[in-house]
Amino acid sequence: FKAPAIDNEPMRGYGIGSPERAGLQAALLEMEQQLPFEVPCIIRTGKLAKQPLPHDHANHLCTYHEADEATVAAAIEGALAAKAGWESMPWNDRAAIFLKAADLVSGKYRYKLLAATILGQGKNVWQAEIDAAAELADFFRFGVKFVEELYSQQPSKNAAGTWNRSEYRALEGFVLAVSPFNFTAIGGNLPGTPALVGNVVVWKPSPAATYSNYLVHKILVEAGVPAGVIQFVPGPPAEVVAQAIAHREFAALHFTGSTFIFKKLWKDIASNLDVYRGYPRIVGETGGKNFHLVHKSAEVRNAVIQTVRGAFEYQGQKCSALSRLYVSKSLWENGFKHQLLEEVAKIKVGPPQDWSNFMGPVIGRPAYDKILDYVKKAKDAGGEVLIGGTGDDSKGYFIQPTVIETKDPKSITMVEEIFGPVLTVYVYNDEDLDQTLELIDTTTDYALTGSIFSADRNILIKATNRLRNAAGNVYYNEKCTGAVVGQQPFGGARGSGTNDKAGSISIFYRFVSARSIKESF
Ligand code: GLU
Repeated sequence: FKAPAIDNEPMRGYGIGSPERAGLQAALLEMEQQLPFEVPCIIRTGKLAKQPLPHDHANHLCTYHEADEATVAAAIEGALAAKAGWESMPWNDRAAIFLKAADLVSGKYRYKLLAATILGQGKNVWQAEIDAAAELADFFRFGVKFVEELYSQQPSKNAAGTWNRSEYRALEGFVLAVSPFNFTAIGGNLPGTPALVGNVVVWKPSPAATYSNYLVHKILVEAGVPAGVIQFVPGPPAEVVAQAIAHREFAALHFTGSTFIFKKLWKDIASNLDVYRGYPRIVGETGGKNFHLVHKSAEVRNAVIQTVRGAFEYQGQKCSALSRLYVSKSLWENGFKHQLLEEVAKIKVGPPQDWSNFMGPVIGRPAYDKILDYVKKAKDAGGEVLIGGTGDDSKGYFIQPTVIETKDPKSITMVEEIFGPVLTVYVYNDEDLDQTLELIDTTTDYALTGSIFSADRNILIKATNRLRNAAGNVYYNEKCTGAVVGQQPFGGARGSGTNDKAGSISIFYRFVSARSIKESF
């Protein structure tokens, strides 16, 4: 069979007076009036925790039942019990379930998912639309296409009188998905990708995205994912994960989060190797310290706008967000600096459901403190705060968009991931391009995204070649965020992850185990 033709989910504009604006506005109001919601674990455990509203200390979005040891054990057993039925289900039926889930995301649940992402994770409407509507639907729909392509890959030769076949089996055991707060779509993708190829999954969502992720799970179940196949297990992160990776049937980790935690899990998995049936697959995307290089030949206006968007959309809380800017001195002094500060000064920061705010809150107390601490450390190290640098946590966790200029290209905010609205600028002498490329490549351990701004094709080529290993996603004359499923496979190497490329066929290979069958006639 052949899956239907697919395309990227069209994005809605939410213009003033549009029906979609009215629809989303109504969903937001309804959610605000009805909160807090109650979210079960696989069962109601009675051990309650809250998902706060990052813009409003006075309320919370949901109360959820946290998994305890017995629940995690039951979730794993339930998943394993569902395994035989799920992996033997005809592929076209699994595909149909995910295509239906995509339609539920793009239709029936769109505004609800957006409202949960806006209120719970602090995204503005358009950032939520890119994520919880478009990218989430794309992951499910394109996933079907990628798996169809994967299953069609067969040995290229059959000797006379023989027939060779490849069969792509689900992994033996269960997959553990550990998803982050910053993209509802990643919440859907981390369990969804392994499940599409017949795996069963224990899914631990980020506590800060519990409600939107619960809705994603509800959608998958409504679309027909059988009970037990994807077990939604909110709970204390360290405990749930430790218990899952100590299990004999642990087959793979699908992770998005910090480098620190990923390394720790990798080591823990290594030390449990004798417990497992096989060698677990470890797939992770773990953050970045992403750059824009603005060459003297760049078009200033475009580079400024892309820089503002790359650094400050969603408060800089994307793994792909821009955080170090290398800009040519002649451009900086002839308009770039002025325009950049002028644009940043226009940014409004406030509650995300207020349509006029470009930036909302950062996700919570630890993030708020950590980000402002980085600003302090940058100042202590001699950095000059050109704009921003302050926060207001009286009602929610709001931080002003911040631009720091440093004379030291290896100062702390040029090196470490901040995950907040802080951009550090290093102005380089026009003639020092080679040294600047060297700096970009060697200053951090990350290698996720980066952009090169130049009107000169030879500069684009030179920088791309020199920065061969400095980013898994490279953009020319565009911001370094916003990879689209099926268009820019996403992921980085070095400290940024295993570069298995979300939104492409590559990642599906990690969740299957191939079997070769030879038959002679
Ligand atoms: N795929 C997203 C982008 O290209 C970033 C995902 C992430 O933050 O992990 O902007």
